[in-house]
Amino acid sequence: MKKVKKYVKRPSWDEYFLKVAMLVSERATCPRMHCGCVLVKDKQILSTGYNGSIPGDVHCEDHGCYIVDNHCIRTIHAEMNAILQCSSHGISTQGATAYITNMPCTNCAKSLVTAGIKEIVVFSDYHATQAEEFLSIGGVKITRLPMPGNKIDYDLDSFSSARKFKDSKEKK
Ligand SMILES: [Zn+2]
Ligand SMILES: [Zn+2]
Repeated sequence: MKKVKKYVKRPSWDEYFLKVAMLVSERATCPRMHCGCVLVKDKQILSTGYNGSIPGDVHCEDHGCYIVDNHCIRTIHAEMNAILQCSSHGISTQGATAYITNMPCTNCAKSLVTAGIKEIVVFSDYHATQAEEFLSIGGVKITRLPMPGNKIDYDLDSFSSARKFKDSKEKK
């Protein structure tokens, strides 16, 4: 049997879902914060969310933030968008785990509890909030992990079965 070259460390489930949350956060539209959230149940992704404007509104990055009391109030937070995506598609969030780039804010923490989330997994903290207090009251487990590597390993040239498009140019 031909020895298969193993060039990438296969991520754990936790690393995988956190990395997806990081990727999702790239779609965020508020320059004050880029956050991504992935709701997972039984190792399957139920929904994803990033902080962004409501449908029909302008984006902070184009029009500046909408600041009230030193907070930008234009965006719906990543966690809320992930929960709302489930609600609009009739998917239960009961018992799910939320993989989030940052500790949630107070309001998102309360929403996660009420949506039946049983655990949150994060790799960074947020500014001082009452999130941990409410997560604790709601019996939500908080798991802090190191930030996974932010490089996506996909080496097209190394796959013997893959062919590049003829006119594809390497995107630098
Ligand atoms: Zn903003
Ligand atoms: Zn929030």
